[in-house]
Amino acid sequence: MVRKHGRNLGLVHPAHTTMDCGRCGARAKRALPLSERTCTCDACGAVSPRDKNSARVMLVRAGLNPADADRGRPDGPQVRQAA
Ligand SMILES: [Zn+2]
Repeated sequence: MVRKHGRNLGLVHPAHTTMDCGRCGARAKRALPLSERTCTCDACGAVSPRDKNSARVMLVRAGLNPADADRGRPDGPQVRQAA
């Protein structure tokens, strides 16, 4: 599938992706309860939805730049930015 779609596949160790901060990389002292949907970092104070935060952690681990992740597919048309 990866070759067919011309994508790069990066394997990322999934452990602690929900506990690490997507901005500063600090690890939370304890896992967020699943009912808690928003992740707040104790170290840098970053607040983000937990799924988005862990996605960011995985991108960093895969060696990608999460700053580009919100702008659609890398080889596809750019998503128009809101003015
Ligand atoms: Zn942080």
